[in-house]
Amino acid sequence: MAERLMGKEVAAAIKEELSSKVAALKDKNITPKLGIVRVGARPDDLFYEGGAKKTCESIGMDFEVFEYPEDITQEAFESAVKDVNARKDVNGILMFSPLPKHLKEPEIRELISTEKDVDCLTVGSQAKVFIGDKTGFAPCTPAAVMDILHHFNIPVAGKKAVVLGRSLVVGKPLAMLLLGENATVTICHSRTENLPEVCKDADILIAAVGRAKMVKANFVKPGQTVIDVGINEDPENPGKYCGDVDYNEVAEIVEKITPVPAGVGSVTTSVLCKQTIRACEMQNGL
Ligand code: NDP
Repeated sequence: MAERLMGKEVAAAIKEELSSKVAALKDKNITPKLGIVRVGARPDDLFYEGGAKKTCESIGMDFEVFEYPEDITQEAFESAVKDVNARKDVNGILMFSPLPKHLKEPEIRELISTEKDVDCLTVGSQAKVFIGDKTGFAPCTPAAVMDILHHFNIPVAGKKAVVLGRSLVVGKPLAMLLLGENATVTICHSRTENLPEVCKDADILIAAVGRAKMVKANFVKPGQTVIDVGINEDPENPGKYCGDVDYNEVAEIVEKITPVPAGVGSVTTSVLCKQTIRACEMQNGL
């Protein structure tokens, strides 16, 4: 049976390191602050927001929610985001998406300066990830995957990494982060031929497709590390959720695997805080 790579363990290690960073900043009379921009009150957003608040509090960071009604106009929302971005005390900004359909999301995203764009919403931040500029912030989920690999000392350089999914939020930036650490990266998507065979060839297989339990026993082989980014409703257990990997089948074969829940999802808010603290340090010339 595979070793379970528990996200909680990674998050605890990150938070321990961050607590001392926050304490050091507070000694200089600086308190890092995360600002969350939320339109409406979608349950998923509120759930993530609650987790982010708890993480901020646990390490001594400040946290503020900027909440707007669902019928806010483009003009009013643009002005609000500009104001949040201009706030000196807000070091990192997370804006929940998707925004209501009447709002022009691409334009609004660009109102966040790259220095505060701790979840890689802007084209400027994406470009930094692409060129490997370390002053930029990758989206929190791919960054969390890298933290999991690092924490469990899973070698990346020279290894074959297969990324299943090519979204701008997960698959593409993750491929860039892996490439930046000298993995040999293959990106798969819905048009990839012989998908199980391609996945089977990986040393590290990362699933980010949004299809419940799609990765089955025929996608894997002994010795692999499997990271499951997926969050899906579990078709076999209503009210519960599951990953993109069929855990029971795959864990019988591979060497290491992240569970869902309690895997990647448990690490993302710690990464969000880490990136906000880094943003705060850079904004203060540290
Ligand atoms: P998207 O729907 O944006 O992208 C899915 C990708 O998977 C696409 O590139 C798509 O290919 C590919 N894909 C879909 N079906 C197949 C298939 N049958 N075979 C091969 N490839 C396929 O999803 P996201 O990247 O936003 O999210 C992926 C998963 O990760 C979701 O379950 C989501 O809930 C979860 N997630 C988890 C987070 C966390 O913190 N743990 C955070 C963000 C997302 P194509 O491009 O060809 O359409």
